[in-house]
Amino acid sequence: AATRNELFDTAAIQKLDSAHYLHPFTDFKQLNENGARVMVRGEGIYLWDSQGKKVLDGMSGLWCVNVGYGRTSISEAVYRQMETLPFYNSFFNTTNVPAVQLATKLAEIAPPGFQHVFFTGSGSEGNDTNLRMVRRYWDLMGYQERHTIISRHNAYHGSTVAGASLGGMDGMHAQGGLPIPGIVHIGQPNYLEAGQGMTEDEFGLKAASWLEDKILEVGADKVAAFIGEPVQGAGGVIIPPATYWPEIQRICDKYGILLIADEVICGFGRLGKWFASELFGIRPDLITFAKGVTSGYVPLGGVLVGDRVAKVLIEKGGDFNHGFTYSGHPVACAAALENIRIIEAEQLVQRVDEDTGPYLKQRFATLGDHPLVGYTSSCGFVAGLNLVRSKGATVHENVAFDEALSVGMVCRGYMFNNGMIMRAVGDRMIIAPPLVMTRAQIDEMVA
Ligand code: PLP
Repeated sequence: AATRNELFDTAAIQKLDSAHYLHPFTDFKQLNENGARVMVRGEGIYLWDSQGKKVLDGMSGLWCVNVGYGRTSISEAVYRQMETLPFYNSFFNTTNVPAVQLATKLAEIAPPGFQHVFFTGSGSEGNDTNLRMVRRYWDLMGYQERHTIISRHNAYHGSTVAGASLGGMDGMHAQGGLPIPGIVHIGQPNYLEAGQGMTEDEFGLKAASWLEDKILEVGADKVAAFIGEPVQGAGGVIIPPATYWPEIQRICDKYGILLIADEVICGFGRLGKWFASELFGIRPDLITFAKGVTSGYVPLGGVLVGDRVAKVLIEKGGDFNHGFTYSGHPVACAAALENIRIIEAEQLVQRVDEDTGPYLKQRFATLGDHPLVGYTSSCGFVAGLNLVRSKGATVHENVAFDEALSVGMVCRGYMFNNGMIMRAVGDRMIIAPPLVMTRAQIDEMVA
């Protein structure tokens, strides 16, 4: 185990890494040529690598370490649960105490109308669960034709076959013959990309109208659900205009279509509310969660199931033939309970909403003065900026997409080597720092 001052034989680890470990979302050959940076320790908002170099983690790992690194009370809760009952499943009429306690707690912090939860091991499995659950719901309601799910281009809903099909990333669809049948996509509400000649509010309504167009094209009696991230994360922190979600909600209501909010990134305080649906006036039927539920300390995900769907599944459903060995894993649930206790005790949701979130917005916006930055945007504890060739030019005039990809990557590498982790999405550099970040640390990050 890594001790505080331990140094590692980086070259030896990199050699073994290349020899045996296929990394996710990675060009294996290129990584083997360059060697991976070996991260060994975390404390608060900082990480240390195997050579003792410190780096500020502006991405909370992968948008997940909401309470920051090094929380001994989570490791203690995990240890206690491992000593007591490391595993037992909740198939075949058994349950376990942490899973029940966590389901109860989630029902308490969820938006109104959510009394039930289905646990998974990850966000992708949560969205797989959604796909089966909404189709099962409509079958039970007597509408076996209502199986199509509408999603958005450039959305990210995970990497399982169903998750990647629901997501709208061309690169992912290009590998493995995705999307699977019964999933269709509409445009994303990206004002800067598609909103020329309109106000933001006009564009929000326009982007929402693409949903209605698609419903009519597919046939309203064939559409099961619409799925969307309140703020698109991996697609580049796309913050929709204020008019967008209320109009999406109106359209879903009009056609009786289920609404799935994928809050894998947005949930657990990231946008200054327990769930971002509250922020945008979304009344979803299902909410996907993962990441911030345990702050990434152990894997856990799931779906909050609203009363409309839960009632039908419970009263009419019989066996729901779906689940995972690790659904309701007692150790993961114990970690989540302690993580949520910390978020409450330190008032992190409120802090992001009222104090550090607005401060981050204000400080991050100052980066817009830089000659290479076109515009900045932020919402709670996610933010993004666009790299440009010249101020005032449109996104398309500024950077061709292929070039943007490498511009972002170069910038990401530069930042990483100089003490800060950001993520690059095309020409957009994004951050999603731990919610424990203080005002002084926001200043440090912006500097
Ligand atoms: N949904 C969203 C919005 C995500 O951002 C992610 C992961 O980044 C997922 C789903 C998939 O979650 P996981 O990687 O835990 O499977």
